[in-house]
Amino acid sequence: MINMTKPHAQVTKTECPRCLTVMTEEAMINHSQVCTGCGYHFRMPAAARIHLVADEGSFKETDHDLVSKNPIALDGYEEKITQAQKKSELDDAVVTGTAKINGDDVVLGVMSFQFMGGSMGSVVGEKITRAILRGADTNTPVVLFTASGGARMQEGIFSLMQMAKTANACALLDDLGVPLFIVLTHPTTGGVTASFAMLGDVTLAEPGALIGFAGPRVIEGTINKKLPAGFQSAEFQQEKGFVDKIVPRNELKKTLSFLLKTHKGE
Ligand SMILES: [Zn+2]
Repeated sequence: MINMTKPHAQVTKTECPRCLTVMTEEAMINHSQVCTGCGYHFRMPAAARIHLVADEGSFKETDHDLVSKNPIALDGYEEKITQAQKKSELDDAVVTGTAKINGDDVVLGVMSFQFMGGSMGSVVGEKITRAILRGADTNTPVVLFTASGGARMQEGIFSLMQMAKTANACALLDDLGVPLFIVLTHPTTGGVTASFAMLGDVTLAEPGALIGFAGPRVIEGTINKKLPAGFQSAEFQQEKGFVDKIVPRNELKKTLSFLLKTHKGE
């Protein structure tokens, strides 16, 4: 189960990779992991993300008892999972539940890159699917934060099946007229981009997030051409029509609340 204790400041310091501002852990927490010098958005742990958008104490986790098996009997996979669980303090690469955003009910799913690169295996796909179906069953808008390196290779074809499964659930939600709001965070790639991440009614993204299918180095190597500057950034994807709005972290809750109230006709 996710540990929702609010993080407290430690002595560690973090240097911004873009402007080299050094931030204390306390400043990182107080500014929601956004650089005070240039606005660079660091990766955000799932618990901090939930604290950021959900009303205090409203988050109720669901399906935390789902744990990965080793469907293709790959050597060392179980150990990898155990290590990732210890390191990230999460059960798998997504946390799902119900919550309120400024008083409005939502089904919430938050992916975490800290857990095996946010890769989508059977558990991630199942939890995302169940979250979407919960929204369908209860006529509750679904909000999903994505962060993923793609399909979980250690589960082979079982990972790829999650793309079809989650996409099908999105189609059902769409048929029922229940909204799906996606927030793309850094990085969102591979099988997650190629399934539910691109199937929302409104697609938001955090500034500077890398959003794509294959990474830029792979594409450059394949087509043997230099890619344009800013290729696959959230800003680039907005220009190309994949992203509706880029929302800085400190405006995320307000923006989601606006979308929820607009949907309700308030
Ligand atoms: Zn900076």
